[in-house]
Amino acid sequence: MSQKPPISTASGIPVADNQNSISAGARGPLLLQDFHLIEKLQHFNRERIPERVVHAKGSGAYGTFTVTHDISGYTKAKLFSEVGKQTATFARFSTVGGERGSADTERDPRGFALRFYTEEGNWDLVGNNTPMFFIKDPIKFPDFVHTQKRDPQSNLKSANMMFDFWSKAPESLHQVTMLFSDRGTPDGFRHMDGFGSHTYSLINDRGERVYVKWHFKTRQGIKNLSAKEAGRLAGDDPDYAQRDLFGAIGKADFPRWDVKLQVATEAQLAEWEARTGWNPFDLTKVWPHGDFPLKPVGVFELNRNPDNYHAEVEQAAFSPSNAVPGMGYSPDKMLQGRLFAYHDAALHRVGTNHQHLPVNAARCPFHNQQRDGAMAIHNGGAAPNYATVEAAGSNPVGLGHGEPTLALEGGAARYDGRGVEDDFTQAGNLFRVLTQQGRQNLFDNLAGPLSQVDADILQRQLGHFDKADPAYGAGVRAALSARNAM
Ligand code: NDP
Repeated sequence: MSQKPPISTASGIPVADNQNSISAGARGPLLLQDFHLIEKLQHFNRERIPERVVHAKGSGAYGTFTVTHDISGYTKAKLFSEVGKQTATFARFSTVGGERGSADTERDPRGFALRFYTEEGNWDLVGNNTPMFFIKDPIKFPDFVHTQKRDPQSNLKSANMMFDFWSKAPESLHQVTMLFSDRGTPDGFRHMDGFGSHTYSLINDRGERVYVKWHFKTRQGIKNLSAKEAGRLAGDDPDYAQRDLFGAIGKADFPRWDVKLQVATEAQLAEWEARTGWNPFDLTKVWPHGDFPLKPVGVFELNRNPDNYHAEVEQAAFSPSNAVPGMGYSPDKMLQGRLFAYHDAALHRVGTNHQHLPVNAARCPFHNQQRDGAMAIHNGGAAPNYATVEAAGSNPVGLGHGEPTLALEGGAARYDGRGVEDDFTQAGNLFRVLTQQGRQNLFDNLAGPLSQVDADILQRQLGHFDKADPAYGAGVRAALSARNAM
């Protein structure tokens, strides 16, 4: 029989008795000097860190990324330097709107956050299971998310709030269509695709830049839950997706995704924009496969469950700003907002030195003059805590790591694209990809919440469906009538 280690206080002092508090007499009261009791209760009160405002409920696992195809012509990032090269990874999947205890099967986008522990620092690709997003400007994000959360007075979720926002921001229609399609309720985390979603850039060793979109195609096959089954599981097994992922990895049924890339030069994007009218950096749009085919890159496999959920999953803090040399950002306004917001959220939620925790720490040496703050685990030892003016980084030329300059156009202003930009064609394209049954499910899934919204909101939203495809609007109207007749 294995011997259990003796219980100690957090300072390592053996605990004399972990079951009986020190009391004055057999019936009490208790004595303040029972420090073990006090420490135990105090620590218990402090167990929770702030819940993520979005993506609160999630599951994580470690894995491996393996390069299968050479993309070193596009990027000098060392993780892609040779076919067969492997990089350790961590992934966290999540729902978005629900609280930490909410059901895994709710209709919601799924977070698809990936970390690659490269020899040049951590690369975080913080995406979703959808290739597009609801909005294209981060200034709208807090408002949008509030509509997905709870009414400030009733503390209830509100279809009226959601569709009030969406109907006044028709740029959302593309992702609203995906959300209410069958893919809005994926069957766990293994049976869905992932997308970097934003347009990012890659830079090669000649200092040339291409723009890219990352895709992760599930090898398990796409599998979705019907709205009815998702609803049943929300009650019967709210942790369905966590159970599925943890269980599969536990029995060595390791989930894998094929990593693929859409690639475009600046000139190709300019030509495409002139032809389609779509801004290639607009997060509410995709790059059609016909215009930018998927190129194979590698395989992403998850093969190890974390030992401790709080330490490794709850405290995991990703940021899209974590891009290694050979990678860069893009003018995508939502990406620009997230470059700030994710790191800021981690500073608030986990702390100043969140990158010191094992799940967040780089697995390569790191040196800078950041010092002190709460929980400074790697505090630089005796090394100088200041840099002098001649100190250089790895490659100070260009915006980041030797990339070419970014040409800008236009004056500084607030640009409102409503009525100018095409928010309907791609939503219609998605609608037209759906099977007959897929379309009917979309109509029925929309009719539920739309039957609860105010008349003016409903009319506005129906008008958007009509513009995407007349059959879309007609189908939702028919589903609403059928519902009202029930
Ligand atoms: P394609 O015909 O080349 O691709 C259609 C895409 O739609 C495929 O990626 C397919 O994924 C996906 N899809 C199929 N059924 C559904 C569904 N029920 N719900 C959501 N997605 C589905 O067309 P385009 O590239 O020209 O894009 C057309 C539309 O497809 C876009 O407007 C976009 O909404 C959607 N789409 C496009 C993607 C892209 O990056 N181009 C990615 C995902 C969706 P799969 O191969 O897994 O079946």
